[in-house]
Amino acid sequence: MHTYHTPLDLVRERSPEHPVALVRRDAVAAAARWFQTKFKGDVLYAVKANPSPWVIETLVQNGVTRFDVASIPEIALVAEHAPGSQMAFMHPVKSRRSISQAYFDYGVRTFALDTHEELAKILDATGGARDLNLIVRMAVDAEGANFSLSGKFGVTPFEAPSLLLAARQATSALMGVSFHVGSQCMRPTAYQAAMAQVSRSLIRAGVFADVVDVGGGFPSIYPGMIPPDMDDYFSAIERGFNEMPVSETTELWCEPGRALVAESTSLLTRVELRKGEALYLNDGSYGSLFDAAHVKWPFPVKLYRGEGAEAREVEGDLKPFRFYGPTCDSMDHMPGPFYLPTDIQEGDFIEIGMLGAYGVAMTTRFNGFGETEMVEVTDAPMASMFGLARRSIPAPKPASNVVRLSRPKGRKRRRK
Ligand SMILES: *Cc1c(COP(=O)(O)O)cnc(C)c1O
Repeated sequence: MHTYHTPLDLVRERSPEHPVALVRRDAVAAAARWFQTKFKGDVLYAVKANPSPWVIETLVQNGVTRFDVASIPEIALVAEHAPGSQMAFMHPVKSRRSISQAYFDYGVRTFALDTHEELAKILDATGGARDLNLIVRMAVDAEGANFSLSGKFGVTPFEAPSLLLAARQATSALMGVSFHVGSQCMRPTAYQAAMAQVSRSLIRAGVFADVVDVGGGFPSIYPGMIPPDMDDYFSAIERGFNEMPVSETTELWCEPGRALVAESTSLLTRVELRKGEALYLNDGSYGSLFDAAHVKWPFPVKLYRGEGAEAREVEGDLKPFRFYGPTCDSMDHMPGPFYLPTDIQEGDFIEIGMLGAYGVAMTTRFNGFGETEMVEVTDAPMASMFGLARRSIPAPKPASNVVRLSRPKGRKRRRK
């Protein structure tokens, strides 16, 4: 990958015709070291948040050597870029063939499940193996997350005891519990509450868990969504763990996805046309802006204008704009609002920040417009949970007739 110091240097040097993903290795490194040092347990990276080889390699170099994988392609990817690392197959629904391949070809020993049927499938597809770490995925009520994941996965408190007992009896290795409070969880206490719910099921089943896996959900920073400190999440989890009926040898795991990668990547895109408050860009929901179009979050933006040495960052009075991508599909629409200078015009470059999770990575799967070029930059991300940049997105400085962005209250929860 070619390296520039800043996105502005890239604009000055070559005014790129096509969208470019700007990758910040240091952001992943800092997040990885933060989790490794401060989380009082094992850290598994949830690969689906950003399956780029450079992410996997940077994580390994910075001490995160365990991976939460959800498919054989992800397992193959990790095996290639992090040879010898430990993988946990945490999708609660897997085909027999992928279970066998994971176990026999890739040495995977840790599998999640949320039904008796899946347990039987796992035992059958591994030839009745006794060395499996079986992790029972529990449904929890997650208040304060921006996406609830419990609608789709997890055994209910009513059915959990019999499944916990069955998993306990099925293995001579570890039996654990896991949950997911939902992505972009804005409330640290959600973890503690989930752990209390899980405890009740363990007590009713009369079993100890060897592993308590608190899942992902650790937040990143977006305009209008400034989370509490990451330390608050870790201490809520520590308190929750101490209140659980666990033994001295019980392992604590977490599976962050978003938090490890969101800050790392932004996208440099160009305005091809302005029509009032609508900006037509050279990238869209089928490219790197999948998340911006589908979750409709207002990602932070910066504006660069001019060519060669003249190019500069433009600030000034801001107003809200919406984006359209290059396809003819009406879904290719990102409502934002994206706060940009009122005089934005065709030919200006927009850097869209904090797209490292569930964003730029999607281009490999929706590549109708070809793979997005990637370059490295060495400046700080637009905002950081890990001390690399300010802990907030600068509040937009609106033109006088524009409403200020505020922290959303009582946001509608969405399913992912
Ligand atoms: C997606 C996922 C994660 C990561 O979630 P984030 O909200 O990105 O941290 C962790 N564990 C499981 C089982 C997942 O499906």
